[in-house]
Amino acid sequence: MKPKISSNKRIKELTDLINKHNRKYYLDDNPEISDYEYDLLVRELLELEKKYPQYKRPDSPTRRIGGEPLKEFKTIKHQFPMLSIDNTYSPEEILDFDKRVIKLLAEKPEYVVEPKVDGIAVSLIYQDGLFFRGVSRGDGWQGDEITANLRTIKSLPLSVPFSFPLEARGEIYFKKEDFRFLNSERKRRGEVLFANPRNAAAGSLKLLDSSLVAQRPLNFFAYTGYFKNGPKEHYRVLQFLKKIGFPVNSHIKLFSGIEEVIEYCQNFQKERNKLPYDIDGMVIKVNSLLDQEKLGRTTKSPRWLIAYKFPAVQATTRLKDIILQVGRTGILTPVALLEPVELAGSTVSRATLHNKDEIQRLDVRIGDKVFIEKGGDIIPKVLKAVKEVRNGKERIFKMPGECPVCGGKLYQDAGEVAVRCENVRCPAQVKERIKHFASRDAMDIEGLGEAMVNLLVEKKLLADYGDLYSLKLKLAELISLERMGEKSSRNLLDAIEKSKGKPLSNFIFALGIRHIGIHSAEILAEKFPSLSEIRTVDLESLSSIPEIGPVMAQSIFNFFRDKEIIFVLEKLRGAGVKTVERPTFVGAPKQRNHSEALDEESIFSEKNIFSEKRIVLTGTLKDFTRNQVTGLIKHLGGRVTSSVSPKTSFVLAGEEPGSKLEKAKTLGIKIINEKEFKSLIHAG
Ligand SMILES: [Zn+2]
Repeated sequence: MKPKISSNKRIKELTDLINKHNRKYYLDDNPEISDYEYDLLVRELLELEKKYPQYKRPDSPTRRIGGEPLKEFKTIKHQFPMLSIDNTYSPEEILDFDKRVIKLLAEKPEYVVEPKVDGIAVSLIYQDGLFFRGVSRGDGWQGDEITANLRTIKSLPLSVPFSFPLEARGEIYFKKEDFRFLNSERKRRGEVLFANPRNAAAGSLKLLDSSLVAQRPLNFFAYTGYFKNGPKEHYRVLQFLKKIGFPVNSHIKLFSGIEEVIEYCQNFQKERNKLPYDIDGMVIKVNSLLDQEKLGRTTKSPRWLIAYKFPAVQATTRLKDIILQVGRTGILTPVALLEPVELAGSTVSRATLHNKDEIQRLDVRIGDKVFIEKGGDIIPKVLKAVKEVRNGKERIFKMPGECPVCGGKLYQDAGEVAVRCENVRCPAQVKERIKHFASRDAMDIEGLGEAMVNLLVEKKLLADYGDLYSLKLKLAELISLERMGEKSSRNLLDAIEKSKGKPLSNFIFALGIRHIGIHSAEILAEKFPSLSEIRTVDLESLSSIPEIGPVMAQSIFNFFRDKEIIFVLEKLRGAGVKTVERPTFVGAPKQRNHSEALDEESIFSEKNIFSEKRIVLTGTLKDFTRNQVTGLIKHLGGRVTSSVSPKTSFVLAGEEPGSKLEKAKTLGIKIINEKEFKSLIHAG
């Protein structure tokens, strides 16, 4: 074994090296090594840190994966208040600002102009060159300590080559593309959507579980810094911050006159849509720090800076109605039906109202004239109602007492704004779940789009996605459907059949477990090579997987213990859907997985394990309802009969069995309990 001292040295080397490559990748956009080489370095470091935890460095890149979830955030007072910025909306107002500044300073100042990134302001404290503490803006005077969350942000330096106390302030933001991806993932997972990238950044930073934050691709731009004996100009402070490793926006410019400032702001307005992140204006700052001090501040905001806000893309139209859409997990989302209107080059006839709290907050009523807004490619949203033109005929939207689709009960989890339909058999939810199951990153079943799923559910050919693979038994009914015909029916069945061989990760994602996106599904599939392992693993082991964490772990755990789910899963397994990741090399050393894989594969190649069997049920089962177990036995080729006779193959006895058990005993019929039944269906 190598002496420990060299491990310590290697850990430091690797930490510095990975941090350097991280900067090259995230700040300079100029990677020097491939992702693969980078991963190898990280893996080496992880292994060494596991062996010698005492040498793990405070700025180790492995700390970015998040840590233990917090119960609550600590409140921390800011060293200097984080004040708000006064807004202006026209060149004239910028000129007025310039006049006020000149009057107070008695000379023309230089200005720095910065894009106003639409994110969340934070303060970062560094001590001895290490990131020590991060605090949200909060009310400007004090905020939440969110150090663990901020540490996960790849572009935020965990160490800087500057050993004096330093505070950097800046904006945490989401890129537009990442935002769209996040929302589409959330939609598929049946979670409430974020209204815009800023909202997504805010929501992410509020998470108490930093391992969840680590999965959100947040970014950081520094816009100011405080430290002793630094440069005397704001522009040079930014350059210094950039030099020591902070990301600083590349569109920040220094100007000597206000005319140039206005020109830059107005030109930039046309460029804003080309940026990968949202900005809602420009910030104009006096460059000299001494002048800034002279100008001071009002109670609300500093006098040495101002924001020039871009006009948003808005339109007015009539709100015709508010309908409720029921999602995969039962969430009811209110949608505004609008009189069609042109907005940013497209016709808009629907806009989101997010949730019932938002409708109340906006006090939007059916029949109102409303302002709608569309930023970038984001779904249009209702901004406000024009209350002045109401004629008294407007109606206040009331949340119904029951699900508008199935009439099921509604419920709201504590601390959640979302209202959900609790009926898991709700046709709207069933349709959404099947659509999700068939979607591209899931089982990718061609031809099973929205219209087809709706049709199959409405015609009662599918009750859940577990029925997909036995749809072939209903070929005649399928062909008889409107606009189907034999060819398209067979194509659909082929596509369904083909999907059986999808990788385990796709299958896990397809199941639609709450909070489990494709990325987490991949992690699970990597960790557990078969579905049966995931089904039986305990909560603690699940929580201990990096990037899974307690919320997801609980969700996975609950999912596989749900009676309905167990039933559906048995149908899928019975149909021969691949639930094992095949070993890459047959006969390769991965023996454990390999032999298990073979076992499980052979189990479900035999689909009719109860063929010709007559089975009698008595008593109650723990994991199945009577309907479920009957369906399951039928699915596996058997028959459930009501009374025990010499022809009975066996009696399945649950808790508190009835007289049938006695009769079976007298006739000498085989009796099995639930556990034995389960091992039977698992062992073929
Ligand atoms: Zn419903």
